[in-house]
Amino acid sequence: MPELPEVETYKRDLDATSLHQEITGVEVRDAYVLQNISGRQLSRRLEGRRFESSYRHGKHLFVRAGDELWLRLHFGMTGSLEYLNRDDIGPKTSRVIFHFANNSGLVFDDQRKFGEIELIKDLDEFLQKRGLGPDALKINFSLFKQIAGNHRGGMKAILLNQQLIAGIGNLYADEILFRARMHPAIAAAGLSDEDLARLFRATHYVLEKAIALKTDFNRLPKSWLLTHRGKRGKCPRCGRALKSATIGGRTSWFCTHCQKRI
Ligand SMILES: [Zn+2]
Repeated sequence: MPELPEVETYKRDLDATSLHQEITGVEVRDAYVLQNISGRQLSRRLEGRRFESSYRHGKHLFVRAGDELWLRLHFGMTGSLEYLNRDDIGPKTSRVIFHFANNSGLVFDDQRKFGEIELIKDLDEFLQKRGLGPDALKINFSLFKQIAGNHRGGMKAILLNQQLIAGIGNLYADEILFRARMHPAIAAAGLSDEDLARLFRATHYVLEKAIALKTDFNRLPKSWLLTHRGKRGKCPRCGRALKSATIGGRTSWFCTHCQKRI
């Protein structure tokens, strides 16, 4: 499931390939991913315009196409963006293709179709309506401390709650907690400033490192949980078998030896 680092990677690819080109049409192969707009309307509203800039907040990507006109993309479970050069054929599961004047295109690929494409007028209004918390990479330590301190419940549930902190999903939440050596069910309320500082640093490190590696799982450090999680997985720190449990509503992987509940 695309989380903050994946969406940031799509954003950077989009910025490098798809800005400032005239949009000649939008091909909607599957309208299921469209929200509050038909395929015909989407094409009509964007035709002749250009993508001018983009903005990411949490797992949402917004692409500006004019005054009060933003394309909103959410990648659901399996969504991604792919730039198509002149003769490239997009993946079979291409749902929407934005065609540009030079015959290139931008594909919204989404095998499982939980993604969302929408046109909105006002970005801030959207963020407010959805009640999204601050972006996980734009948050400072004092705000992070405040969020964790003001909420009961386990730390993993807090990291996953998009209304509190936007952008972190199941895989990276587990990775952050592993790096900070905290059990996913640890109560946020009992954490010291020092613990929270360690967690804050781990959050930045994990998200930034994943972005720097373009979220290529084959290139992630072997010391990361992500490359070991799963049945028969061993803790890369101590070598003991990893455990899994449903925590914060999701399947969590962790090491009971390295990650203490305190
Ligand atoms: Zn361990």
